[in-house]
Amino acid sequence: MEKAVILKRGKEESLLRRHPWIFSGAIQRITGKPEEGELVTVYTNDNKFIARGHIQVGSIAVRVLTFADENIDRDFWKRRIATAYHMRQSIGIASREDNDTFRLIHGEGDNLPGLVIDIYGDTAVMQAHSVGMHVCRDEIAAALQEVLGDKVKNIYYKSDTTLPYKADLNQENGYIVGKSSTNVATEYGLKFHIDWLRGQKTGFFIDQRENRSLLEKYSKGRKLLNMFCYTGGFSIYALRGGAELVHSVDSSAKAIDLTNANVELNFPDDKRHAAYAEDAFDYLEKMGDNYDLIILDPPAFAKHRDSLRNALIGYRRLNAKAIEKIKPGGIIFTFSCSQAVSKENFRTAVFTAAAMAKRNVRILHQMTQPADHPVNIYHPEGEYLKGLVIYVE
Ligand code: SAH
Repeated sequence: MEKAVILKRGKEESLLRRHPWIFSGAIQRITGKPEEGELVTVYTNDNKFIARGHIQVGSIAVRVLTFADENIDRDFWKRRIATAYHMRQSIGIASREDNDTFRLIHGEGDNLPGLVIDIYGDTAVMQAHSVGMHVCRDEIAAALQEVLGDKVKNIYYKSDTTLPYKADLNQENGYIVGKSSTNVATEYGLKFHIDWLRGQKTGFFIDQRENRSLLEKYSKGRKLLNMFCYTGGFSIYALRGGAELVHSVDSSAKAIDLTNANVELNFPDDKRHAAYAEDAFDYLEKMGDNYDLIILDPPAFAKHRDSLRNALIGYRRLNAKAIEKIKPGGIIFTFSCSQAVSKENFRTAVFTAAAMAKRNVRILHQMTQPADHPVNIYHPEGEYLKGLVIYVE
């Protein structure tokens, strides 16, 4: 019997609008006993083909791979990866002399729900967020090699923390192809050690590239605090931009080591930079009022909808402290990467923070994720990164 999902009457509506998720509540019945991660064909209640995708236990029951009646085989992966690659070449991200760091596949944004592939030089770091993508990992890796040719020599698979732990896959990270001898990648002419073996996400936050670049333009002659620095990305752009002083802070000692190593790689012995392993709130509380450029790029405060309220309180507190302490005429780059926090939620949190600090604040820029993290227009949930550049009088 065909492995298929038959929807309840009328539940095809969001699929007709090309939204790529099918929630478990929309399903009438499942035939053919598909195992978790297997391919299923999706039919409307009156038996019309509507989609094909990976089935999974959980509230998102099917992640749609295609709305066409086509096979999901190596050729399919090749076509999807090639489309994503060509887009990034055509907009100039994957074809610059001074940049070999970019996101090649951004899940739903590239019509491949559950899959992330980041490129660091000749190494691709691949991450599955769904059981289906995990099952297909070797086929995807082969397709990736075919599309990128010798541009990618190593493929590291890193899904231990992103796969649903209930699926009990006991996934271990490791190379599917090759093994990298170096881990230095270049972003807009700056060098970074990327720790894909132990680092967060795929090792680096590529999604802040354009915002780091914007920061560089504002850095000249300023005294900077880079709060939640992780790999030191913003700090290194600020040093290149001519900052007078840069302090990097992160609660993780490992992040501080990584930041120092990255500063060394680009600006050896640069006395303008210092890094401190400290909690953000402690540091903001006791720091002076000497900074005139502050970056706040905290981890996602709300991983789920139910933690939204506490997350907003967190953003408000954090921003209020920074707005209160920054020098007159100072600039703050403030971010939220929580998917559950909307652009409006975040702006309200910063507005409340400004009111609490009782200072005049203007919004100079509204920031989001870069073009290699595209938002599928049919999947607005894919827009997760938001930021504001504010000027504090
Ligand atoms: N700005 C970085 C990414 C930040 S990721 C970049 O451009 O790459 C968030 C960082 O916040 C992590 O490195 C984490 O160690 C740090 N962090 C989490 N909680 C913290 C806290 N309470 N105080 C300081 N740093 C914290």
